[in-house]
Amino acid sequence: MKELLSAYSDDEVSPVERRDVEAHIQICRECKKELEELLWLKQEMEIAYPLSMEPDFQFEQSVMDKVRKYNQQKQAIPKRRFAVAGLFAVLLFSVLLLQTGQVMYMAMKFTFAFVKIGISLAHAFGSILSSVPYVVEVMVPTVIIILIFSGWSIRRLLITKTAG
Ligand SMILES: [Zn+2]
Repeated sequence: MKELLSAYSDDEVSPVERRDVEAHIQICRECKKELEELLWLKQEMEIAYPLSMEPDFQFEQSVMDKVRKYNQQKQAIPKRRFAVAGLFAVLLFSVLLLQTGQVMYMAMKFTFAFVKIGISLAHAFGSILSSVPYVVEVMVPTVIIILIFSGWSIRRLLITKTAG
């Protein structure tokens, strides 16, 4: 039943098997739970790797097509050993490229995340820094005005005292 559940979650069951699974999960809680987990996992995978899977698959397909063509062409030529070696090299290279592509994709994702964090940090710092001159611009004239005003009032007080 476990294999059937897995196949069911991948949409790889015959109509009869589908009916069996659906009938079974009505009566078996354990399998119902397992199927729910499988479907959830599948959904998570599709959310996590929608971009990396598709282009790679297409790339793989195109490489395989080229390899097949190459193979067909080479079969007419007597030097088969070179063709096999070449084919192997191409396969190895394409596997390496596929791996690199996936790694690069992940690296790009991480870089984007870090750049995003960096930008928001810079933005936060920027607003703090740009608020400093504003504080200076407001504070300095205010302090000067207060100093002038207090100087003026002290002098006025002294003048009134002298006059009085
Ligand atoms: Zn069961």
